[in-house]
Amino acid sequence: MFIDCVYKALRTPKETQQTLEILTEADMLSGDSSVIQLYEQKLSYYFNTKHAIAVSSGTAALHASLLTVIRPGDEVLVPAICVPMTISAILQAGGVPVFYDCSVNSFKPELNDLDKKITPATRVLVTVSMWGYRAIDNDTVTFCRQRNIMIIEDAAQSAGTDSLLGYEGTIGDIGCFSTHEFKLISTGEGGFILTNSDTYAEKIRSFTHIGFSERHGGFGYADGLNYKLSAFQAAVGIVQLTSLDAKIQGREKRKVKWKSLLQSAEGISFLNSDVMSRHNCYSLVCLLNDNAKQSGIELARKLYNVGVNTDTFRYKNTIVSNYPYYKEYYKHPKYTRDNNIDFPNATEMVKKMLVLPCHERVSVEAIHKASQSIMQFIQDA
Ligand SMILES: *Cc1c(COP(=O)(O)O)cnc(C)c1O
Repeated sequence: MFIDCVYKALRTPKETQQTLEILTEADMLSGDSSVIQLYEQKLSYYFNTKHAIAVSSGTAALHASLLTVIRPGDEVLVPAICVPMTISAILQAGGVPVFYDCSVNSFKPELNDLDKKITPATRVLVTVSMWGYRAIDNDTVTFCRQRNIMIIEDAAQSAGTDSLLGYEGTIGDIGCFSTHEFKLISTGEGGFILTNSDTYAEKIRSFTHIGFSERHGGFGYADGLNYKLSAFQAAVGIVQLTSLDAKIQGREKRKVKWKSLLQSAEGISFLNSDVMSRHNCYSLVCLLNDNAKQSGIELARKLYNVGVNTDTFRYKNTIVSNYPYYKEYYKHPKYTRDNNIDFPNATEMVKKMLVLPCHERVSVEAIHKASQSIMQFIQDA
């Protein structure tokens, strides 16, 4: 593969040195370490939220957040285009996933569809900012406030995406982030939760610390799991956070390069990143129209055969409710089980999408070479 969407984060010798220095200073290495406190301070400073809670993964962040706000049987609105981890967290928290359509060529919710999906049991809207693109706006927030629905943002892929509303993951009630290897802040495994609510923060902190109650100064006042991050990962995270903006700039260059080489291609346009906002350039989402004479998946397969592995090829652009395990939750009366009818916008987008990586292991020469292949495959179709 001369381009691989699978991101293996680079660390410079200087960054490794800085990480080791932080660890040398550490009072201890567990999740109660001073290094964790420092990491959480730096996260809440960067993202401008009252609270930041470091946890062991993005899935743990989602699970702990959902468990804090729903009761078993509550319905959780979740987008038709997301990752299975989002659904797993809902199921593990005892929630019932209710899949909703996105608006046209966007990862934001289609509010008309949300309206149809709401019942007295609806408690939470989960937004998922796929590939770093925004998935929440003012209309979404107003819609939920008026209906007393909480918003949990799955911002696992969108660390650093910013708009007039603030950073993605700080706009709803609770934001959940992953710092898995593939994400922009890479700590191997890990995640964190952001919120401005004292109540949610206290509950989530307690749950992720095996039920430890800060107010009572002990265990046995609440239930929980050990979802703590270790000082090792937090030390990596502190250094990674420092280079987040530089990383985004590096990705921005690659995204601009892809766009400049592909813009003349008949049949390709690009998913809009909103004006007055910053996309973290996790990946570039291209949309193929009729002139391309093929679906995103077909083009992704041809690219794979010449050495370009894209997320489109790896994940097959599936509507998430189609996974076999979720069959139970994708049936009448809410759905017809015809994707075209249930999620017209998401189905259309999934067909058209070609997702191109912009991370620092993708060289400019490789982008040139791959772009030529893309132009050729469209011409030949
Ligand atoms: C990576 C990811 C997760 C899960 O994060 P982990 O740290 O791997 O548990 C959840 N949601 C989205 C959108 C992701 O990209």
